Amino acid sequence: MPARSTAAGCRTRCAPSNRASSTNARSSENRSSSYAPQPSPRQGHSAIDARRRTDVRGYEGRPVTVVGGANSAGQAALSLAARGATVDLVVRGHDLAARMSSYLTDRIQAHSRIRVHTGSTVSELAGGDTLTSVVVERPGERPQRLASRALFCFVGADPVSGWLTGVAKAEDGFVLTDVGLPAGSALPYQTSAPRVFAVGDLRSGSTKRVATAVGDGASAVSSVHAALAGD
Ligand SMILES: Cc1cc2nc3c(=O)[nH]c(=O)nc-3n(C[C@H](O)[C@H](O)[C@H](O)COP(=O)(O)OP(=O)(O)OC[C@H]3O[C@@H](n4cnc5c(N)ncnc54)[C@H](O)[C@@H]3O)c2cc1C
Repeated sequence: MPARSTAAGCRTRCAPSNRASSTNARSSENRSSSYAPQPSPRQGHSAIDARRRTDVRGYEGRPVTVVGGANSAGQAALSLAARGATVDLVVRGHDLAARMSSYLTDRIQAHSRIRVHTGSTVSELAGGDTLTSVVVERPGERPQRLASRALFCFVGADPVSGWLTGVAKAEDGFVLTDVGLPAGSALPYQTSAPRVFAVGDLRSGSTKRVATAVGDGASAVSSVHAALAGD
């Protein structure tokens, strides 16, 4: 079941507005930005799904900015650097290893084309038709303007659950199932609506991983059989 990535690339079509936003934002779509990516017809909003390999192509020899401190940001930084981009990785936390696996942090810290800015946020984006620079701020220090041709945000994910009405959801929009429901449920993966099951990223509390989504789906089949047998 779907959850929408907020991995956003301000890669190609960036429409200037008045003032930049901080990348403290959890989602790129609900904060104003100097460079707002155009809505994607496929996804119906401004985020570009950075899992697609093509999203990181075309930056050979160019400076780019990656925002985020978890594995997705680390993978993107390495992927861009491997394709010849010079990467500024902006991390709000003070310790890169706090939320990123060591297999990534080790490679990032050793990579000559990746600069890491911990304890920092992006406060401004600037340019003409396309992005040319970003301002990175760290409390107590002078803001730094960095050349940048693209900004990739990996700062969280919003569930695409607006269409799914009539089931209980957590405050953040992820769908509650079985023991997560206030009243509980006899069947694993069952939502508050009879015969409606939720699996994968959309399920509240799930580990957002491929293996979890696949396992959820396989396991939910038993619940579906049990629900049908109970009729
Ligand atoms: C940048 C990035 C890197 C990642 N790296 C890893 C990694 O290295 N290892 C790992 O294990 N996991 C990784 N993940 C997480 C992994 O991609 C997800 O956990 C997994 O894809 C979840 O699967 P899913 O089926 O629940 O959701 P999704 O893969 O999001 O699939 C949901 C599908 O539902 C479709 N959909 C949306 N709305 C509707 C609708 N109304 N009707 C019908 N279909 C709809 C969507 O188009 C989509 O195809 C990464 C995620 C991101 C964003």
